Amino acid sequence: MNKPETAHRIATVDLWIGGKRQPAAGTRSGEVANPALGKAIRRVPFCSAADIDAAVKAAAAAYPAWRDTPPLRRARVMQKFLQLLQAHQRELAGLVTEEHGKTLPDAMGSVQRGIEVVEFACGIPHLLKGEHSENVGTDVDCHTVRQPVGVCAGITPFNFPVMVPLWMFPVAIACGNTFVLKPSEKVPSASLRMAELFGEAGLPAGVLNVVHGDKEAVDAILDHPGIAAVSFVGSTPIAKYIYQTCAASGKRVQALGGAKNHAVVLPDADLEFAADALIGAGYGSAGERCMAISAVVAVGAAGDPLVALLRKKAGALVVGPGDKEGVDMGPLVTRQHRDKVAGYIESGVAEGASLVMDGRGQKVPGHESGFFLGATLFDRVKPGMKIYRDEIFGPVLSVLRADTLEEAIRLVNANPYANGTAIFTESGGAARRFESEIEVGMVGVNVPIPVPVAFYSFGGWKNSLFGDLHVHGVEGVKFYTRTKVITSRWPHQDTPAPGLNMPTLG
Ligand code: NAD
Repeated sequence: MNKPETAHRIATVDLWIGGKRQPAAGTRSGEVANPALGKAIRRVPFCSAADIDAAVKAAAAAYPAWRDTPPLRRARVMQKFLQLLQAHQRELAGLVTEEHGKTLPDAMGSVQRGIEVVEFACGIPHLLKGEHSENVGTDVDCHTVRQPVGVCAGITPFNFPVMVPLWMFPVAIACGNTFVLKPSEKVPSASLRMAELFGEAGLPAGVLNVVHGDKEAVDAILDHPGIAAVSFVGSTPIAKYIYQTCAASGKRVQALGGAKNHAVVLPDADLEFAADALIGAGYGSAGERCMAISAVVAVGAAGDPLVALLRKKAGALVVGPGDKEGVDMGPLVTRQHRDKVAGYIESGVAEGASLVMDGRGQKVPGHESGFFLGATLFDRVKPGMKIYRDEIFGPVLSVLRADTLEEAIRLVNANPYANGTAIFTESGGAARRFESEIEVGMVGVNVPIPVPVAFYSFGGWKNSLFGDLHVHGVEGVKFYTRTKVITSRWPHQDTPAPGLNMPTLG
């Protein structure tokens, strides 16, 4: 960041292009808020097409040498980056808390989950191995290689300023690609810091570049002919737009969208355990997680006791600034978003849901301008209601009632979002049936937020993912590489040359 010129002027976040910090050429910019204080703490440049072009040119110039660097040497740079991330975990988590608002322990956990992707990326040489078949025809062999795709871009959301970028660029870069990252303009600082640390680890200039901005910057990425592949994580309407625009111009694309994650609670579940898990999954990070549980389907007799437990536990949550010890839930990311979520609470009441706990009156002494909203709980929510149909992305948990497991499964499968889901039960048979029949990308059994570990892949189904491949894990490696199949013959003097007929090799 540039130094502020006076005490009351705020710093502007730099870009990272060609291995160094740079100001943007464009003149548009926005404010980055500290949501717990409710005031602007930095400015973020909104890149123009010229800025994006400069980043793509730097990435394209770095590509041939990085592609040709042996995978093991690339992995060694990754290992140094891993060490630096571990050493700076607290600092990165501090930036997350400052610009996003989530509590520091939660931010530490999210940075840890990102670091685990870098651990995975250190072993990627193993996954770049191809296949080989000897003698597929007489004296003919066949083998495959996985090669990088070129310059890749990543466009990321506000809610995981470290983890989601780390889902993308370490995997792409370990596979031999170069990268342009555009983090959310609401939380730009952590990405810049990670690029700087990667540079310190020995990453050659131009292999990773960071640009900032809004739709103008994103469109410049989508339109740029020098970008071969785009990874996106964000809301569903934008994910769909990214997918369609990239597909139209022949770019490889994976676009992860929004969510409405259900937890089904059967009457045989340990309700105390389930309620604790649901409180964490519903209100952790103030509900601003793509894997947050926002809809609880209470089956049969589980309903009344579960709602009573949720009310008691939600009422005990401590709301306050994320950097204060003992706080369970921080503010929402912006004032507009807090007001939008409060509007959903109003609509839930108007549509006849039963408001068990109302977070709208939440006060945080000393932080009167912060974007706070308390834990909110609705019961007897119906599928037609707006609070059920829309992704609210705030601390609002809705309980729906179902008579049977079948009805609960039908309800979950009818929802257009399909990112994550969970079942709480002590019945292996019920869990197994749920696991098999549920049409959702990530499933937890007595695990409320089933975010897969880095060596598995992350991604939803239906409106939660546009594209074919998930992020990280083997699917991430597939996304960032192209397969080439080589068929070879080393003719002996007595081997006849192929004739005009379709070769059958036999
Ligand atoms: P968002 O869609 O508003 O923004 C995501 C990115 O797209 C940002 O970088 C932003 O600058 C850019 N963008 C915003 N509007 C755009 C437009 N009109 N044209 C082009 N680009 C645009 O999402 P958000 O509010 O930052 O993040 C929250 C959303 O992300 C939620 O819907 C959440 O479920 C989703 N999310 C999904 C996952 C997942 O893995 N499926 C993970 C995290 C977050």
